[in-house]
Formats: sequence, C-alpha cells, structure tokens
Amino acid sequence: MQKSTKLLQLRELINDPAHSTSMPIYQSATFAGNSIDDFGTYDYSRSGNPNRDVVEAMIADLEEAKHAFLFNSGIAAIHVIFELLCAGDHIIVAEDLYGGTHRLLNILPMKNISISYVDATDAANITAAINSKTKMVLIETPSNPLQKIINLPQTSEICKKHNLLLAVDNSLLSPWWQLPLKFGVDIVVHSATKHLSGHSDTTSGVICTNNEEVATKIKFLQNALGVALAPFDCWLLYRGLKTLPLRVKAAQDNTLKLIEYLKTEPVIKQIYYCGMESHPGFAIHKNQSTGFGSVLSIDTENVQLSKKIVDLSQLFTIAVSFGSLSSFISMPVTMSHASVPADKLVVPPSLIRLSIGIEDVNDLIDDLKQAIKTANK
Ligand SMILES: *Cc1c(COP(=O)(O)O)cnc(C)c1O
Repeated sequence: MQKSTKLLQLRELINDPAHSTSMPIYQSATFAGNSIDDFGTYDYSRSGNPNRDVVEAMIADLEEAKHAFLFNSGIAAIHVIFELLCAGDHIIVAEDLYGGTHRLLNILPMKNISISYVDATDAANITAAINSKTKMVLIETPSNPLQKIINLPQTSEICKKHNLLLAVDNSLLSPWWQLPLKFGVDIVVHSATKHLSGHSDTTSGVICTNNEEVATKIKFLQNALGVALAPFDCWLLYRGLKTLPLRVKAAQDNTLKLIEYLKTEPVIKQIYYCGMESHPGFAIHKNQSTGFGSVLSIDTENVQLSKKIVDLSQLFTIAVSFGSLSSFISMPVTMSHASVPADKLVVPPSLIRLSIGIEDVNDLIDDLKQAIKTANK
C-alpha cells in the first residue's frame, strides 16, 4: 500500500467502540487498570497515550523507521538526542545548523561535552574533527537557510567506521522527499512543527531510528524527562499528516515556478535552492532524495533593499518557521538565526528566506514583483 493511502487509514484504532472515522482524543492523564496485577496497555499519559502511539506509527511509516518518538517541540527532540551524550564526550556538528539548535548546543560545554563546528559539505572536515572522545555527528541537509548539501552515504560511512552515531535533522524536506535512514543514518529528527503538521498550529518534534539500543534509550528519556507530546497536539499533527503528500507537492510546484520568475529579477543576486542545477550540491542531493522542498533563500546583497522587500510584500507573512500552508518571509540573521554567535554565523545579513505555501503561485509572483519594484525605486 502506498504511503499516501496508509496515512488515511485509522488501522491502529480499530478497537474504538464508537467506530469513529477520525481519531478520538484521549485527553486523559491516567488510565484505569484491569486488576491490581494487570494495568493494561496504558497507565499514565506521560509514559504512553493512544493518540501518541497512532501518530508515532504514522511517522515511523513515513520515515521507514522501526521506531518514532514524539516530543513537545523539535528542540525538545534534539535535546533528548544530546542526552545520549555523557560528560567527557565530544560531538561534531555542521556549522550552519538551525539557530535554536545552536542555542541548545550552548548547554553542552556546561556539562563537559565538547563541540566541533565544521563545514560538513566536505566530508574530510568531519574526519579531521574526530578524536577519541567523539560519539556523535549532527547535520542538516539541505541546511537552512543556505541549502548546503551534505553527502549522506559518505558521512554515514565515516560515522560507521569510527563507531559514531549520525543524527540528521530532516525538518527542511520532510520524509516525503528524503529518507536518511536508508543511507545508514542512525537517528532522524524533525521539527514536526514544520511540514509534518503543516498548519503552524502546534509545536512538536519527532525522533526516528532503526537502532534498537538508541530506541530503548530514547523511549526511557521520553518518559523520564516528561517531554512527550500531549494528546491534543498529537491530534493536530495527525490531522496535518493526512495531507502531507498533497501539501508538500503543491508547495514544491509553486517554489519551482516562483524561482523561474526570481531568475529574471536583476536585484536578486543569488538564489539558494537545492533544486537548481547550478547549485553546487545538486548532483549529491538528487542521489539521496526525491525532491527539493519549498524553502529557498534569495540575496540582494543589500541589507536595506532586502528589508524593504520583506516589509513591502503583502502575501508573505513576516514570520520564522516554514512548511506551513501559507507563505512566510524572513531575514534569518535577525530572526531564526539571531541566537547564532557572530563568529559562527555563516549567513549573509541581506539574506531573505522564503517558505512557499500552497496559494496560487501567480499571486505570490505578482506580490514579490510589486515589492521588488517599489523597494528598488
Ligand atoms: C524549527 C526547527 C527546529 C526546532 O523545532 P521546534 O519545533 O521549533 O522546536 C529544529 N531544526 C530545524 C531545521 C528547524 O527548522
């Protein structure tokens, strides 16, 4: 059965006595036991809840993972991954990670865990950073907002050789376009706030893995730390997931058409999008994914001009985040990446990030046209 069909089956809830066609919400903190010796499948929602089980199964299926675990935000999920590290360990991370991940990394040195920031587009930089304490590598591909591409099979091979866990933040593409576990990646993490939920009405995160040892630890941490996703948020994510295939395809189609227009605009000096053949990582990306997503960055190389374009656009909401039904515009340096320290910032200050939604693409093109024209006056 195709994934898009499976997303519309409520097979995990066939025991619902009311035969509901949408998932009922189990808004209950505790569950009654059958007897003092038999507590049943569920006892307490922090440890397990039927809504979470259904949505974890849906995402595991999408990501082709044996296990998926839901958390109350993408950052909570990444935090849980970092809890796999101990004092004295060392982690290697790609230098242009999401801003919130950079902020979270600040707590590792306080726990005596050291970090190397590398340009992971060249695998030799990862190899060079490995030492006897290294336990984990964390990357994003394509990265956000510069869309740098990291070679997944190659990075995975290096990690296997040195016995390191490789974690990939797959938020930007969603499992619809990219399945990192296929290439031997150990852990995939998503901000489910983005494409997976798709309606920017909940924050959530998910960790997927095929590694039994990792899964056991993550399951323990999900309960022990009390960071699992609550029932109603699971329901919102469930509702969003049903249309994931439709949404991401429509948004990508819009993105490709919008780029054709942007290429004709002289004020746009640079377009960062992994789906352009001129992109330096295009061939590597095509080899490891089936699509390019709906996030792109453009650069006028003029901060004031970029700011004006952002302010003058009317259909694009000035907002961080991406993967929503409606289009967003932002300037990463002062928004999503404001928490990246200046010495680690590789993003030009004039960069504009666009997250394309499912509006009529001609309206989006007309809107950017008028914003650019007026800004350039
Ligand atoms: C948004 C985002 C996160 C953080 O997720 P939240 O749900 O906002 O906590 C992590 N990684 C990437 C790539 C993101 O875009």
